[in-house]
Amino acid sequence: MRRKLFYSLFLLTIVAVSLTISLLLFASYRQVTEENTRSLKNMAYVIQNVCRTLDYKSIEKLNLQDRLTIMASDGTVLYDNYIDVGKLDNHLQREEIQKALSSGEGIASRRSDTLSKEVIYYAVSLPQGNVMRLARANDTVFQQFKGIVHYCIGIFILITVLAFLAARYLTSKVIIPYKRKKQELKAITNNMDEGLVVLDNNGEILSINKSAIRFFSGSKEDYVGQNISVLPFAKEMEQLLKNIQQSDKSTLIINKESSTYQVNGSKTGEQGIVLLIMDVTEKMASEKLRREFSANVSHELKTPLQSILGYSEIMINGMVRDADRPRFLQKIYDEAKNLLQMIDDIIRLSRLDEQPADAIVPMDLLPVAQRALKRLMPKAEKNNVTLGLKTELTSLPMNGVPQLLEEILANLIDNGVKYNKSCGRVDVFLESKEKYWVIRVVDTGIGIAAAEKERIFERFYRVDKSRNKGVEGTGLGLSIVKHGVMLHKGKINVNSRVGEGTEVVVKLPKENA
Ligand code: ADP
Repeated sequence: MRRKLFYSLFLLTIVAVSLTISLLLFASYRQVTEENTRSLKNMAYVIQNVCRTLDYKSIEKLNLQDRLTIMASDGTVLYDNYIDVGKLDNHLQREEIQKALSSGEGIASRRSDTLSKEVIYYAVSLPQGNVMRLARANDTVFQQFKGIVHYCIGIFILITVLAFLAARYLTSKVIIPYKRKKQELKAITNNMDEGLVVLDNNGEILSINKSAIRFFSGSKEDYVGQNISVLPFAKEMEQLLKNIQQSDKSTLIINKESSTYQVNGSKTGEQGIVLLIMDVTEKMASEKLRREFSANVSHELKTPLQSILGYSEIMINGMVRDADRPRFLQKIYDEAKNLLQMIDDIIRLSRLDEQPADAIVPMDLLPVAQRALKRLMPKAEKNNVTLGLKTELTSLPMNGVPQLLEEILANLIDNGVKYNKSCGRVDVFLESKEKYWVIRVVDTGIGIAAAEKERIFERFYRVDKSRNKGVEGTGLGLSIVKHGVMLHKGKINVNSRVGEGTEVVVKLPKENA
């Protein structure tokens, strides 16, 4: 780019200078020719008057520098001050003589064999019917140039040097800001998560950022100059380019490994095409989740409602014995309670999705944990499970949403109590790691099989319902926990052995949640 600009400027100056010199030479040639013609005319006027009174011999006394020829009206040469008359042929056909005979005067310019030079001829008719002609050698452009050639070369060299320096200066003046802008743009595009590719109309890559290179293969190869049709996803890309040519804009979804990418392409004027490659895996997954969630919610709400309807219908129809009535009523009560719990959890989950960033405040995790434990104390006593808080820390300052963290802890303790054995324990450990506060909720309960560990965080997922028989739950508790931990930019892990117990580890960043 720099070299190109420099040469363009330099060449432009050289061409301009050469053209100027040529035009000046041409103008000076015209000027000299006009000057010579005018002077010949004046001289002819003087001689015309002399010839009126004197004979040809007296003309010689004028000591003329120019060649003078006098011809009779039939073209016969009567007198010539340069050449012997006998050696000259008939001049009737000469252009200037013809003109002088027809209109009184004539001018012509041609190469003279007699003088072997470019010559200007000026002819006038004389009163006696003769024709007088004056001729003067007129230097050609090149002959004139000979006289000033050394000046021209000097000027040319000087201007070439000046042009070289000026071109270099101007180039750097233009290039430096341009380079800076280019670097800025490169820094921006290379730090973009989205892939950006600029193509010409034939699909040749003009520029490509780091994310796009990663998308195509992950290596650091230079793609500029290559055609998009030789890269991975060639078929899809070719189809995309075709669509863009036809309708200016087009979109493409590409699945690569376990990720989904959306490629948006659009024309940029007549010159090219811009492709923007975005990782939409999360977006697609959350859209899928949302769709599944709506379907699940309807299904999950329907189940307890159908039970309630069923039991109450039997009772209304008087088909229940008095002794069974309390059991039926208890069923209706339990299902209605479950339904209410589920609705509560769904509301909580959707609130989590909309949690505003300003809900995060500086807080202490210790009293939050104490409150959660206190809340679950009655339930633990009822289930004959011992609760304990184990920590040496006196305060755990962090940025977070206190109500949400209490909810997370309460859910984990609740699960520890629910899925426990009689005389079991649930202990909450609060520990400090370099960057995290670590919460461990450890129970001595039934445990979770390895294959179930990932699934328990799914919405509405409950491990084998027969194993949970009698344990109320919605399958939403751990979804709320996971969501809440992610909102605090934390991590959650489950360690468990079936029949021995479960440990849920939550790490929360001490700063910048
Ligand atoms: P639920 O309302 O059923 O408790 P959760 O989302 O809290 O819903 O948990 C999902 C499933 O994971 C539970 O149904 C249960 O089978 C299993 N689970 C959760 N915590 C524990 C635990 N501490 N011990 C054993 N199983 C558990």
